Amino acid sequence: MSNLSLDARTALKCHELLHKTYAPKCFPNLVKDSMPETAKLLATQGLAFESRIVEAVKDLHPSWVEIASDLSPGESVQRTLDAIADQSVTLIFQPVLNHSLGLRLSALTGPDFAGTILSGRPDLLLCINRSAGPFGQWIPIDIKSHKAFSENKSSSIFTLSLSEINKVKNPTDLILFDEAKSSNRLESRDAIQLAHYHQLLTELGLAHPDGWGGIIGTDGHLSMGLLTEQNFGVGKLRKNALELYKQEFGEALAIIQKSLARNENPKLPEVARPLFVDDAQLCKTCMFRRSCLSELSSFDGGGDASLLAGVTRTNIEKLPTRSIRLLAVGGPGVPDDVEQKARVYISGIPEVAIGSELDIPVFDVEIDIDLENSQANQLEEDSSPARLYLYGYIKLDRDKTSEWQSAEVGSFADYSNSREGEHEVFLKMWNYLQEQVRVASSAGKTIGIFHYSNHEFVWWRKWVANFADLPGTPTFEKLDTFVANYVIDLRRFAEQVIFPPKKSPVCNYSIKMLAPFANFKWRMEDAGGAMSIFKYEQAIGLDQDSAIAAQNWLREYNEDDVKATMALRHWLSNFFTN
Ligand code: SF4
Repeated sequence: MSNLSLDARTALKCHELLHKTYAPKCFPNLVKDSMPETAKLLATQGLAFESRIVEAVKDLHPSWVEIASDLSPGESVQRTLDAIADQSVTLIFQPVLNHSLGLRLSALTGPDFAGTILSGRPDLLLCINRSAGPFGQWIPIDIKSHKAFSENKSSSIFTLSLSEINKVKNPTDLILFDEAKSSNRLESRDAIQLAHYHQLLTELGLAHPDGWGGIIGTDGHLSMGLLTEQNFGVGKLRKNALELYKQEFGEALAIIQKSLARNENPKLPEVARPLFVDDAQLCKTCMFRRSCLSELSSFDGGGDASLLAGVTRTNIEKLPTRSIRLLAVGGPGVPDDVEQKARVYISGIPEVAIGSELDIPVFDVEIDIDLENSQANQLEEDSSPARLYLYGYIKLDRDKTSEWQSAEVGSFADYSNSREGEHEVFLKMWNYLQEQVRVASSAGKTIGIFHYSNHEFVWWRKWVANFADLPGTPTFEKLDTFVANYVIDLRRFAEQVIFPPKKSPVCNYSIKMLAPFANFKWRMEDAGGAMSIFKYEQAIGLDQDSAIAAQNWLREYNEDDVKATMALRHWLSNFFTN
């Protein structure tokens, strides 16, 4: 235990991840997966954002010290100590806080601060009370390439510009910034990390006792608050960030201790088990995902309930078993829908969900649409907006053909990466759809426009809200009327069917997961969100040849997406004969 050094992510980690990390002898065949491309991109963009903020803060405030990342562990700790002791320093970038710093502090001051098993490297430490003791009192600040806060009536934060950071010499100064106070809350994962740093600073004798923490997010401001005023949960379950951290950290520490014991004696019972969580912070990017998926899919000869679509950790806690094989048999405590999902998982035969009818409307003219955007927000980059740059369609006119494979495919694109360019793409698609409705109606034909998932509609509304100043943008009323009359979300129908696993042991309703049921194959082996982000970067780049190649790639990728939607729709329409 004394050798433990638990960082700021410990409280946030999956218990199975801790189990596998601290009891490696129990997992002799464990393979470590490389980071998925999307996660690598996220990390790169996050670092770029962080360094831009660091440079901005350095320019605005002269009294900073940076602890370089290439120093030896001993040197990093000594530089951190020197900076803390230097009365002229108010900001320290990348300080190293750990047991070793505690030993050096106690050697200087006498009291024993050396007992910490915590460690951490916040992006920034801000001294808010230099007169408190020889080393002052510090608050941790992290730089995050996402939005720092969200609205919450029972919480409060102060929002300061980067130039105001140094004005906070003492927390009571924040009263001066009363107009900067708002009913918002730091994001839970960020607040838990800040609580970890606060606890670590407390154990080193360097914290302000009130417990402040701050996040610089993509709005480029410092959102700072008392950790006791960041509230999560409701009623009796409500906890502030410090309480939540203590609970999560306590549970993680118990898992680590049991895992260490099991590592010495593998005959001890399992400490945790994998549970699939379809989340970019958890299983989707975890280095143990292949091992866990293999364990989950072979669990009890039929698989683990977390592999079923829509069965979450909370659902699982209420189930009598996690065994898909046993859930498929039903019985007390097994909801009918879970029993059906388990049965389909085992049989491999899709079924219409209990209580659903699966009655997909059929029109004389059917158009499937799909948009592509730069996904800047998904990359958690800076505050630049995600740009829509390509809108594709596939049109089936039943007077001409009933085979979706021979339907007409087209798209509208703009690679100027500009607001005007984005507007043009929206407008062309809007005008195209209006025209198709007009032509079909005047010929006495019915027409339906399909898209997959709510995502599309969210983009249309963003267009109406943010581009109202540009010519041709419809009003909300016009858009809503059009959508109500002609536009249909195919996902609503797909969710009326229970699907077994196909390409992966995990079941979900993404188009990539379902289109293979209709025997649809994307042309590109590497089709996916991460690759389209790479291609977009090339498509807007200065190198003409690679820009054209990337634009062609994106057009084909989008074409396959709209074809996949149409293929799945036809398969669903023929479900009972299939
Ligand atoms: S793959 Fe999921 S369950 Fe397994 S260790 Fe990682 S996060 Fe935990």
